[in-house]
Amino acid sequence: MTTKAFESLLALITETSTNLPPDVRRAIKRAQLEEELGTRASIALNTIVDNIVSAEEDVQPICQDTGMPTFIVHCPVGFNQIAFEREIEAAVREATKLGKLRPNSVDPLTGKNTGDNLGEGTPVVHFHQWERDQVEVKLILKGGGCENKNIQYALPTELPGLGRAGRDLDGIRKCILHAVYQAQGQGCSAGFIGVGIGGDRTTGYELAKEQLFRSLDDVNPNPQLAELEDYILDKANQLEIGTMGFGGKVTLLGCKIGVRNRIPASFYVSVAYNCWAFRRLGVVLDPATGEIRHWLYRDNEEKLERPTHAFATDSAIVLEAPISEEQIRKLKVGDVVLIRGEMHTGRDEIHKYLMKHDAPVDLSGGVLYHCGPVMLKDDDGTWHVKAAGPTTSSREEPYQADIIEKFGIRAVIGKGGMGEKTLQGLKKSGAVYLNAIGGAAQYYAKCVKRVNGVDFLEQFGVPEAMWHLEVEGFPAIVTMDAHGNSLHKDVADESLVKLEDLKEPVFV
Ligand code: SF4
Repeated sequence: MTTKAFESLLALITETSTNLPPDVRRAIKRAQLEEELGTRASIALNTIVDNIVSAEEDVQPICQDTGMPTFIVHCPVGFNQIAFEREIEAAVREATKLGKLRPNSVDPLTGKNTGDNLGEGTPVVHFHQWERDQVEVKLILKGGGCENKNIQYALPTELPGLGRAGRDLDGIRKCILHAVYQAQGQGCSAGFIGVGIGGDRTTGYELAKEQLFRSLDDVNPNPQLAELEDYILDKANQLEIGTMGFGGKVTLLGCKIGVRNRIPASFYVSVAYNCWAFRRLGVVLDPATGEIRHWLYRDNEEKLERPTHAFATDSAIVLEAPISEEQIRKLKVGDVVLIRGEMHTGRDEIHKYLMKHDAPVDLSGGVLYHCGPVMLKDDDGTWHVKAAGPTTSSREEPYQADIIEKFGIRAVIGKGGMGEKTLQGLKKSGAVYLNAIGGAAQYYAKCVKRVNGVDFLEQFGVPEAMWHLEVEGFPAIVTMDAHGNSLHKDVADESLVKLEDLKEPVFV
């Protein structure tokens, strides 16, 4: 027998995971209009919009990485917080069972995934009391790709491209610009940032994350911070990192800054980076019944139109595994490819494993997909892909070149690009790196026609297992080729030059 509170919390989790709020949709729509049709940034944004529409229609996760579910609860004095936390846990368990959340709770020492998103410290729940007769629950699902791009600065400091950042507003300005620059496309730009000025190392980050709960349309009540927010939004876009780090006019979609007192010895600027899949929602509940009184962040409805064509697939090059070295060496940065046939997922655990062991299947000429999907199993034992976008590839940088060479892999798909060692490895072994559109989990799930099998499911859990997926018309862009070219390196170099142009003091 479920309670009303459980049902309300399950609805909150489901809606947060599958249906982006109107303010975020408006920001993405504006970006879509900014980019010229046919450019890589425009292709990426159209794919993102297509994905948002599908996720809402099918009530499936917008992105496969549903992050660390974080609840902020405000409740009246005397409200039973212990019982309410149990309701949250039950709703999280059920949402995971239904495939609205990916099982993401992992023991850091054993690597064991609990399978239901419950475990030591997960989900995160913060309670605050207030003098109102209502319970407010806000939820954010922030994935690992963008969480890994959070950054904290202790002032004074030296910053690449910007020089000395002092203990003043101009030093803060430089830190925030640098935070956007260092994220490049790895946090699935175009992104949003929450900034915390002051506090200590812990509360600075808390303050930064709190800013992500502000509406994108609000105006900072502190005029100095309001001016800084506008400045950052304008200048960060001049870095031209673009959506997915492909280059383009839109890099940042929102900037919110908060301030908290510090102690004299410490001066922190903490930045929480959130990807375009900015999943945060809230509900106000009746404290007695647990029923939803109203939703938060849903002021005006904002519909997005499904684009007619995300990728221009008519001129795309079809790749079917096993792929020959000759085919791969003909590819160059910027080519759009369509993959058909079998690909194999592999992320952190698989890469570590393959360094020392044989692969469970023949990978020669094969396609390796950096992806941790959301999967559901039918009663008859058949697996279905519920969400399957790419994960951040840079984590595999220490292993990738060796694994490509050892197993004869011809194509690696991921997002955010890889480094110099992989680039040299691609050249040596005759392989390419393909960038899929980060977060487009529904778009890519639709390309999977069948699940051929899975290895290491028990050992590593759903996201880290090796899934063998039969795909058709899976589009991606060559961003690192076998001739030593890397779009990611080019964009990083060019944006550093643009960052240097912003070196001169502005807030003195
Ligand atoms: S959109 Fe990208 S950064 Fe955001 S959760 Fe998904 S994979 Fe991670």
